[in-house]
Amino acid sequence: MAIKKINPPLIITPRVVPKFDNIELDETEIETAEDFRTEHFTLSELERACKIPDNLRPNALKLLENLQIIRTNIGKPISILSGYRDEALNIKVKGAQNSYHTKAMAADIRATDIAPKDLYAIIDKLIREKKLSEGGLGLYTRPNGWVHYDTRGFKARWTDY
Ligand SMILES: [Zn+2]
Repeated sequence: MAIKKINPPLIITPRVVPKFDNIELDETEIETAEDFRTEHFTLSELERACKIPDNLRPNALKLLENLQIIRTNIGKPISILSGYRDEALNIKVKGAQNSYHTKAMAADIRATDIAPKDLYAIIDKLIREKKLSEGGLGLYTRPNGWVHYDTRGFKARWTDY
């Protein structure tokens, strides 16, 4: 007797109903949540020096999401040396005028066991592969160097040599 193929029974998985189903969270509310984090980063890591104003939060969240992509790709811890800077701090540390750090779009980073020049190359590759937002990428090779990455949206590359 031929085996007749029948469609499997439709299995209905009960949906988890949120407690406050009638409250719609729009993006703005999510972005202003105090506890925003990606798998490996929290917003507070970008605002160790200066508190990020509410209007710059979306920039900071986009930056964190991109840093998480780098983190996931390299599989090594990343430390954020400098994240958001207000104008006063930016002047104090002799940052570039209109630095993307003052827009919460930039981070100076270092990765465990990866030399800054290698981290720079990895990030550049991720951008070329369109896995990461296009932006500014700077290599600082001085002892204990670092990599600057920002999400300015257009390509900029520089090194300190
Ligand atoms: Zn920087």
